Amino acid sequence: MTDIRALVATSTGGGDVLAVESRLEPSPGPGEVAVQVAAVGVNFIDVYQREGVYPTQTPFVIGNEGAGVVRSVGEGVHDLTPGDRVAWPFTLGSAAEVTVLPAARVVPVPDGVDLEIAAAALLQGLTAHFLTRSTFEVRPGTLALVHAAAGGVGRLLVQMITDLGGTVIATAGGPEKCEIARDLGAREVIDYREAKGDDLASEIEGAAHRLGREDGVDVAYDGVGAATFDASLASLRPRGLMVLFGGASGQVPPFDIQRLNSGGSLFLTRPTLAHHIATTEELRGRAAELLGAVAEGRLDVHVGGRYSWDDAASAYADLEGRRSTGKLLLLP
Ligand code: NDP
Repeated sequence: MTDIRALVATSTGGGDVLAVESRLEPSPGPGEVAVQVAAVGVNFIDVYQREGVYPTQTPFVIGNEGAGVVRSVGEGVHDLTPGDRVAWPFTLGSAAEVTVLPAARVVPVPDGVDLEIAAAALLQGLTAHFLTRSTFEVRPGTLALVHAAAGGVGRLLVQMITDLGGTVIATAGGPEKCEIARDLGAREVIDYREAKGDDLASEIEGAAHRLGREDGVDVAYDGVGAATFDASLASLRPRGLMVLFGGASGQVPPFDIQRLNSGGSLFLTRPTLAHHIATTEELRGRAAELLGAVAEGRLDVHVGGRYSWDDAASAYADLEGRRSTGKLLLLP
């Protein structure tokens, strides 16, 4: 048995609980594949697990998303062979030199898509995919609000909405991030470090008016949470849809349901990726569309930083400290 390196959360806490440790190389059981990991995606869910917001027994190997090359397959796996390039969006324990995954939870990486880009695209890309196709069906004429538009999910949302014929009002923190949102296709961009609370709500209203929509936006995509929720709700047209998909600034506190009535028969949903890739068919169908768009150059996936495992705490500090744009990767 050979030793491999793995990135471990040794206890619940901040970035200082992360350590690179030795583990025995795992072998695939029935229905599993062993993968030589090329890159691991950095996500907020890693933070929620490390901090215990999503309770996870410690010590555990961190990382939920990655890409690599199949080394060996377990009994009963017929659709993958050693040498295949694969990626996965949602399996805890990804940050190891060799990891074992259920074969049904990996997707093939098409020719023309680099493994690092596949690792960078999958979790956030599948999220943007279900948000624009299933949670709300974006069409020509849709007016959407996207917060944190220079971030991982945000950048992909802006591109997908625009590609589907919709129009985006974006928010981002600071002039550089606002410029990124504009370059990606957002028609109106608001720096929400400058405009907060009621000011933010009136800035969004003004932007919607300039785009010819007196009644407000059709859909608000909000992964920032506590800091933006009220302004998002206020931005909606009657019968518009509030999509709260995360809480980068903190979780939204309990909410008076009557606000949906006074806001104009509004809808509110709190969707999550797991329920949109529950079957292998849905996972691979969405991934094929997503990675196909990347291969054809219709979707730009930006890697905002690459970090060694020894420096993993810095990657999470940058994500949590709002210093990142696009996707951060951990490279073994
Ligand atoms: P991002 O790359 O978007 O990083 C988060 C961004 O949020 C920051 O860069 C920052 O952008 C903005 N932000 C605003 N306020 C804060 C704050 N107080 N602290 C930190 N960041 C803040 O991350 P992801 O794309 O990975 O994730 C975005 C959101 O989507 C997260 O809430 C995540 O949990 C959620 N998510 C949900 C999924 C689901 O299935 N529901 C799946 C994947 C992600 P700026 O500087 O421009 O303000």
